[in-house]
Amino acid sequence: IGKRRGKNACIVYDERMKQEAAKSEQKRLAVLDAIEHDGLTMVYQPQVETATGKLTGFEALARMKDKTLSPGVFIPIAEANGWIQKIGRITTKMVIRQICVWRNKQLNPPPISINYSIGQLSDADYLTYLKQCLVMYAVPVEAIRLEITESLFIRKEREARAFFEAAHRMGVRFMMDDFGTGYSSLSMLQRLPVEEVKIDKSILDNHCSNSGDPFLKHVIALIHDDGKRALCEGVETQIQRELLKDLHCDLIQGFYFGKPGPAEAAEGVIRKGVLDPEKD
Ligand code: C2E
Ligand code: MG
Ligand code: MG
Ligand code: MG
Repeated sequence: IGKRRGKNACIVYDERMKQEAAKSEQKRLAVLDAIEHDGLTMVYQPQVETATGKLTGFEALARMKDKTLSPGVFIPIAEANGWIQKIGRITTKMVIRQICVWRNKQLNPPPISINYSIGQLSDADYLTYLKQCLVMYAVPVEAIRLEITESLFIRKEREARAFFEAAHRMGVRFMMDDFGTGYSSLSMLQRLPVEEVKIDKSILDNHCSNSGDPFLKHVIALIHDDGKRALCEGVETQIQRELLKDLHCDLIQGFYFGKPGPAEAAEGVIRKGVLDPEKD
């Protein structure tokens, strides 16, 4: 009996493995399909001044048009399969095209940040492509930012630096993303000419419940000492906003001021210029 049960268990296990493999292959194909057949779109999340609610920028975030997978799933799949360079180019063009549309409507969109993944470093012609998009749509380089993470400089220090310098010569400006999630070294922060540092949501979640918690205050002071502006990600409540105001955190991005939304929604936000969740 023992033997038979063992065998059955094996079969069940095998079936499950097969199902898992089929599921992950399905996901892989869904991502490939979205990349190859215009299945991606962008949503835009406002970034505002903590004290005034004045709109200072947007972060552009990729979505699958059919919403089958969230970016937390499809971005890692793209990275693992060597497709992130393609996504980088697709998102870059879509964002610049959107800025062009807004400028043609006499709207004056604030800088829009585009996420740049570490895997894109191997796309040697990305900056040429970026420049072509800017020229094609007659958009100045100041209209965009690239969001990079610190891991870029730890895992690919030499390539990252070369990319960074070339981009910098082109006039590209950067934001440091997900600060505080891992390696955060002060010396690294100091060596990078980024203007804004985005403090990761996890820092806020872990250190915001108690306003006496010195950690968040310390992180913000660190960023300021270095002459950079601090942006806190993932702000969801009025209480958090008040705390961040007291801590002199310059900028905020989060559901409290606005969820990532399609271009039409972002257009409404641009027209408003100032966000006030208490009144809106
Ligand atoms: P990220 O760059 O750190 O983006 C911030 C994430 O936090 C976004 O998730 C955003 O929707 C979410 N978020 C913003 N405010 C709040 C809030 O108040 N509460 C909560 N719970 N979440 C908030 P999203 O859009 O799901 O993207 C996840 C990650 O996927 C991004 O993290 C980024 O690393 C990656 N990603 C998204 N779009 C792109 C893209 O176009 N290119 C690349 N390379 N990566 C992307
Ligand atoms: Mg980002
Ligand atoms: Mg982030
Ligand atoms: Mg993050």
